[in-house]
Amino acid sequence: MPKIVIDEMRCKGCALCTIACPRGLIRLSEHINKQGFLPAVISEEDLAKCTSCALCAQMCPDVAICVFKEKKRA
Ligand code: SF4
Ligand code: SF4
Repeated sequence: MPKIVIDEMRCKGCALCTIACPRGLIRLSEHINKQGFLPAVISEEDLAKCTSCALCAQMCPDVAICVFKEKKRA
């Protein structure tokens, strides 16, 4: 399962998540979405470096980022 999923349709390309990520893993796409914005994207390679800290999702004003955390086993 991916650690984060960015909903490109909800994204307005404000880039706040790109600033919020302490690892600099998110960037804006070079292609516009159906709303006419450059949506935030993360590569497969960078997804592997994601810590699921959720700072990007907390920063997003459009609730376009879902963060998944692995359950700790007892
Ligand atoms: S969850 Fe944290 S490490 Fe992962 S992309 Fe978002 S801000 Fe970056
Ligand atoms: S903070 Fe949200 S709306 Fe702004 S670029 Fe990131 S995902 Fe898109």
